[in-house]
Amino acid sequence: MLNKICIEDNIQFKTSVEVLNECFGKNYKGFQKAGCYLGGDMFVWFPKLALKMDGQYKAQSKTKPWINVLSDDGKTLEMIAETDDFDRERILKRSGIIFTFAKCEPKEGYRYIGTFIMAVEECTDLRFIYRRIDTVIDFEELYNYQVPENEEDQERHAKQLSKSQLYRIAKERGSEKPKMSERTVATWGRDKYVKELAKTRADGICELCKEPAPFVASDGKPFLETHHIKWLSRGGSDTIENCVALCPNCHRKMHYCENVEDIKTLMKIAKYITV
Ligand SMILES: [Zn+2]
Ligand SMILES: [Zn+2]
Repeated sequence: MLNKICIEDNIQFKTSVEVLNECFGKNYKGFQKAGCYLGGDMFVWFPKLALKMDGQYKAQSKTKPWINVLSDDGKTLEMIAETDDFDRERILKRSGIIFTFAKCEPKEGYRYIGTFIMAVEECTDLRFIYRRIDTVIDFEELYNYQVPENEEDQERHAKQLSKSQLYRIAKERGSEKPKMSERTVATWGRDKYVKELAKTRADGICELCKEPAPFVASDGKPFLETHHIKWLSRGGSDTIENCVALCPNCHRKMHYCENVEDIKTLMKIAKYITV
């Protein structure tokens, strides 16, 4: 069994059975259908792509009343029906991720061309549109994953996932009505006057990037946020010498990057109150 496959690999499988057995651990002897579910809402699809001849698309075989057209950039796959003589509901049921192994030429085998999802809002009665969301399948990740309980571990886990796996888990976990959880947040006392003084010193200009505040708030003042150079949670003081006014981008940067040069620059600025 393969561990991973990506579209650049260009691996050809002679038949759809070979794809299911070698990639997805099945043990089929024969398989004739155009696709199958893998459990959950994962689907493997084996379309035969339409051939472009004299600027027109032609089906590889005339057994179905539609053609499958892959865009030149490979990111969109369209299933265009000529008549409505097919089970539309069955196609719409494929609402999860669709691993697509296509026969691009009559003499070729099936190749992985990407993982797609149906763009339901864009579909019409005779036209189904699929958008590519991933170009790799990590087979191990697909079956052996566990969502950690702890939120910090979840954050780390989410960052390591492939796009399609992330899509799968996010879709399953997302909720229309998020639950409210009560928690007490401990906050450090921040003096309003210290804060205001830092903003006055900045005078509408971010003290780090020197760009004007991004917008004027409803109180008519340029919007800047105050930041403690040495964080209060790390024992920093709530004094003007430790407080600067930053645009939201720079403020985030100070919390996520902790760049030593930035800290030095801000410490110099905070020392002086000049008008
Ligand atoms: Zn800034
Ligand atoms: Zn801050």
